[in-house]
This record gives sequence, C-alpha cells and structure tokens, in this order.
Amino acid sequence: MKLLQQLPASLLYKCVDGSEVYANEACFKLFGLGSAREAFLETLAFYDPESKHELTEDSHPFNKCAKEGTINLHVRITSTAKNLNCVVSGTVIYSENQQWIVLNLTSAQDNDISQLAFAKNSPLDNHLAFNRLLSKISSQLINLNSENLDCLIEKKLGAFGEFSGVDRCYIFQFYNDGNLMDNTHEWVAPGITPHKEELKGLSADDLPYFHQVIKSEQIFKVDDVEQLPEVATLEKQEFQREGIGAVLCVAIYLNEKLFGFIGCDIVGSAFSWREHDVRYLKLIGEIVSNTLAAMSNKQSLEQVSAELAAANKQLDHLANSDGLTGIANRRQFDNTLDSAIRRGIRDSDLLSLLFIDVDLFKQFNDTYGHSAGDEALKLVAKTLHECCRRFDDLAARYGGEEFAVILPQTDAKQAHYIAELIQLKLEELAIPFDGSPGNKILSVSIGIATQACTIALTSGQLVGMADKALYQAKAKGRNRIEVYQ
Ligand code: GH3
Ligand code: MG
Ligand code: MG
Repeated sequence: MKLLQQLPASLLYKCVDGSEVYANEACFKLFGLGSAREAFLETLAFYDPESKHELTEDSHPFNKCAKEGTINLHVRITSTAKNLNCVVSGTVIYSENQQWIVLNLTSAQDNDISQLAFAKNSPLDNHLAFNRLLSKISSQLINLNSENLDCLIEKKLGAFGEFSGVDRCYIFQFYNDGNLMDNTHEWVAPGITPHKEELKGLSADDLPYFHQVIKSEQIFKVDDVEQLPEVATLEKQEFQREGIGAVLCVAIYLNEKLFGFIGCDIVGSAFSWREHDVRYLKLIGEIVSNTLAAMSNKQSLEQVSAELAAANKQLDHLANSDGLTGIANRRQFDNTLDSAIRRGIRDSDLLSLLFIDVDLFKQFNDTYGHSAGDEALKLVAKTLHECCRRFDDLAARYGGEEFAVILPQTDAKQAHYIAELIQLKLEELAIPFDGSPGNKILSVSIGIATQACTIALTSGQLVGMADKALYQAKAKGRNRIEVYQ
C-alpha cells in the first residue's frame, strides 16, 4: 500500500472487508488539504450530479466497485474541505494478502473552467463554451411566462453553477430603498444545504460591511472567509454559519438602479476567484435581471391592458345601451340593423323587423304619473328582451315609448309568432291601465316587415315598412299586429 501512497494519481482506497477509508497524498492535495485531515475521510460523501441523490449502499462507489470489479462514474464529492466534480474510476486489486478497492479521482475543479466536459480545454474553448451556455440561457428566458419564470431562473443558476463548479448560486433582490433584501432564487449543488427560505427580509444592518462594499464597488469578492477584516465580523459569522469558505457577489443594476446581486459560494474551503468568474457571473446576472424586469414590465402592461379592456367594455356598454331600460339603444339598433342586412345579403337570408309602440302611453302617464310610466317602459323592454331567443336577435328602444326588434334569418311566419309572443307576455304581465284599448291592461301595437336581403334593401326602407305596418295597427284600433304588404 506504500505504492498507492506515492502514486501521483489521487486515490481513495479501502480493504474489501474493512470499513476504514484511506487517501493518498495526491488525493489530500486535490482537496487542498495540508494538515487537519482528521474528519475529512469520515465526512466524504458522494452524489449523483444528475439526480442530486447521495450515493449510498449499493450505489456508493466503493460498494459498486466491489460488486462490479471496475467502475467509471461522474460524481460530486463533498467533504470538509472543498467539494469536487470528479470522474471516479475504480478497480479491485490484490495486495498484502488482501483485496483492495481503489478509486482514482480526476477532478475538474482546478482547471480554468471546472466543468468536466471542458476540463482539458484551452481558455478560448472555455470562453466559447461559456458563450454557448449564455446564449442558451438567454434564448430560453426570452419566451416564457411568469408562472415558470422562477423555476427557470433557478435552473439557469444551476446550469451556471455546475459549469463553474461552485456549490451554491443565488440571486438577492433589494427593496425598501436597498435597506432590505430577499434571497429570491437559489441553486445548490448536491449535498449542499439550501438557505433561500431563511434568507428573507434581511436588513442592511445585519450585513453592514457587505452592503457598503457591494453598493460602492459593485463586487464583493472573498477568497477566504477566515481572512475577512474585523469590520466584517457579522458577515464572517453569517458565512461561517452557512459553512461558506469563499464567496463572490456581483451587483445587478436595472435601469441604472441597484436591483440586487447575483452570487455564488464555495462551501467548506477557500477558493481563489479568477477574473473570468467575476465576468461570467456578471453576465448571467445581467441576463437574469433583464428577464425579471421584462417580466415585470410585461405583467404591468398586461394589467393595464386588462384594465383598459374592462374600461372599454364598460364604455361600449354605456354607449350602446339605453339608460332607462338597459336594453340596446338607438345607436346599437342602427349598427345592428346595418350589419344584419349585410350578413343577410351574403347568406341570401330573410330579415324581419318588428316596430312596437305602447298604446295611449301619453294617457298612461297622465293617469299614473311619469315615474309609473318609466317603470312600465322598463317592464315592456324586459319582456321584449326575453322574447329575443336567438343569439343575434336584438330588442332595442327606438325612442320614447317606441321599441324595435331585429330578427335575422326570420321569415314572416316566425316574425308573427314572436310578435304574438310579445303580446302574450305583456298580457301575462298585466300592467293595469284603465284607459287601455286592451282588457284594462297596458298593450302595444306591432308592425312587422319581412324582406329578403338584397343590395337594394336599406335599413331606412325596412324601418319605413315596419313603421307603416305599425301605423296600420294603430289605425285599426291598437293592441294588434299588422304586417307590411
Ligand atoms: P299611441 O297609442 O297613438 O301611440 O298614443 P301615445 O299616447 O302612446 O302616443 P304619443 O306619441 O301621443 O305619446 C307618447 C308618450 O310617451 C308621450 C311621452 O310623454 C311618453 N314618453 C316618451 N318617453 C317616455 C319616457 O321615457 N318615460 C315616460 N314616462 N314617458 C315617456
Ligand atoms: Mg309613439
Ligand atoms: Mg304610443
């Protein structure tokens, strides 16, 4: 086993039957450990980078290797020192009369960009890879709605976090004039404790040094939390509480206003942040904050347009309905009749129009008073409206105590039936009127015009016909229906 100790490859090994795990010098070095190695081996944990589940029992690399003879896995290793994304290749060897399981760890952490796939690439390749990641992130963030926005932003933080090999990546948003902040989005690597839920409503007084630095310098970069100056005692305590060894935060500005910051942590060990870490973090921060801003603009636009639509609907209703009775007014009647004729021409349909005038209404007013007259008009209007059974039938107040009903696709017989129905309903309603030509109840006279829709037919003509028929009904004694011939 002395041989294993001296090999330049980073090795973890243990006896097949034993429980004690050993690491060679290269392995300690890989994790950045000089001395203080005691707890290290006991606290090593292995995670599946995809599912983020801890690898235990049969899936633990040692056990898997013992069972299968050899292994080759991508894993994330957490430890009391730094956490690493590694390729673990394992084999079982025979030495000193014992079987040993030996795991060889190849890390990407100390390379320029620490994602495995890029580990051996040049800085230019890494930069290109980062650009690809960036454009993928931004294109996915452009077309999205607010429901999945938060989830997607956290996924993007994850893509960046894994790319950079950090342990945690997050966004904080300032509010209350920058005096308070919330951790709004967070991604954590496997085995790392999330803190988002507890980091809400943090006051500037809780982390005064951090606030001062991020606001004046836009960057808060700490390679080793242990080395924080005395003025940063509160920050040091908070970072240590979260197990953070190195932290990098970059301010995010929106419309020249401080929006918040994006940050990432290395848990358990110090880390020398490099220039490109800052640059990349800044770019991701800008994309995310622009997306958040666009979304909030979109939401306020949607709200304004919904309010506008509601206001328009209300205005439309006001402009097209009669103030006293609530049914369509003359304006809507005119528009609807014109379009009914146009549609009738297109479909070669018949169109019927009823003109309805309350009988001796002047006398009704004189007898029962004007407001009783108003109430009676409302009831007549309601009755007409209820007799319009089809979707595009329309009952309107034409003026005074005169009403009209437009009946598209309706022949003379059907129109007569509707006119009779109106009279029947008014009889049932039985508004008392001593001077009525009907049976001491308020009555109406109805004129009907039914025409085939042609280009020659105008709304004025149709109205004239119905009015003429109505005049006939009046002339013949009221409370009756006459058809224009
Ligand atoms: P006819 O049977 O020939 O139609 O007799 P009429 O009395 O109904 O006809 P006339 O045109 O002489 O009178 C219509 C009356 O309708 C006069 C007017 O005061 C009344 N009127 C018009 N609009 C309203 C209204 O909004 N409310 C009330 N209470 N009365 C109205
Ligand atoms: Mg009249
Ligand atoms: Mg009248």
